[in-house]
Amino acid sequence: EWAERGAAKIVRQVTNPDTGKTTRQVVKKGIKDFKFGETLGDGSYSTVMLATSKESGKKYAVKVLSKEYLIRQKKVKYVNIEKNALQRLNNSRGIVKLYFTFQDESSLYFLLEYAPNGDFLSIMKKYGSLNEDCACYYSAQIIDAIDFLHSKGIVHRDIKPENILLDKDFKVKLTDFGTAKILEPKPNTTDSYDLLSRSKSFVGTAEYVSPELLNDNYVDYRCDIWAFGCILFQMIAGKPPFKATNEYLTFQKVMKVQYAFTAGFPLVVRDLVKGILIKQPAQRLTIPQIKSHHFFKDKNFKDGSIWDEPAPEIQPYKV
Ligand code: ATP
Repeated sequence: EWAERGAAKIVRQVTNPDTGKTTRQVVKKGIKDFKFGETLGDGSYSTVMLATSKESGKKYAVKVLSKEYLIRQKKVKYVNIEKNALQRLNNSRGIVKLYFTFQDESSLYFLLEYAPNGDFLSIMKKYGSLNEDCACYYSAQIIDAIDFLHSKGIVHRDIKPENILLDKDFKVKLTDFGTAKILEPKPNTTDSYDLLSRSKSFVGTAEYVSPELLNDNYVDYRCDIWAFGCILFQMIAGKPPFKATNEYLTFQKVMKVQYAFTAGFPLVVRDLVKGILIKQPAQRLTIPQIKSHHFFKDKNFKDGSIWDEPAPEIQPYKV
């Protein structure tokens, strides 16, 4: 069933050698149509590899998931969530595109848009921190992508630097929707979701987990906004706001919202981060408020121009 719904089809012109007649034939795309290359990354239950289409030469990232492992670890549900979320979000800026899915006896395959500039964690590791210009460029795209997925009734629940990929033009592409929450449309509407519906979540990475998850074991869409605040802080400070020697101590800090700005942390970003890292979700800045914050005064979110700007040269933040 998994393959049938998402089976990739391509149309080929086929000429019959006897009659000379050309007809269009639908051919199922399969793993044999791709040449596999280097490993791009390892997830907790998948391996992501570079794949090149034999027909077009186009490069993809293929996420390979072992069926046996998925069944043994009871992860089948998450694979379906990832696929359904990506299909609902397809063709949108800021979200990695899912082209095809297929399977063979041993594995499931997700043919994804290839993001050749890797993930945001590697960028942060390489440069240590980002100057205000870079932080503004990347955070504007991240918050706009989060806004978009919320508008489609999807809460990501594991926004963190590893899950933010960069395409060939250094444009943001969110990925890893395995732990997403997919909301049902409100009755009698086609495109309106109850974003306040609360769900039990997973603890992704301790540093980006919101206090409501730790206190009440429930989150709603505002956990993605919290994670965004943590990442924005990290861009300037070079480290996440809540970080300790172990998970338990990190959780303690998150629950108390105990963090400190680094010396010389720019006031405008400080103000924005302070408005987001608030324990009570209802008091946290909303996405429209974030977008109209002074930090984004030069960004026009409405006309989509934040996605057309050339990426600034990456430079670390200097006090
Ligand atoms: P996790 O353990 O975080 O749940 P996962 O199994 O869901 O991981 P991903 O996070 O999707 O796997 O991918 C693992 C790594 O592979 C990423 O951190 C990234 O480095 C690389 N990667 C994934 N997708 C792409 C892509 N489309 N283009 C380039 N690299 C990618």
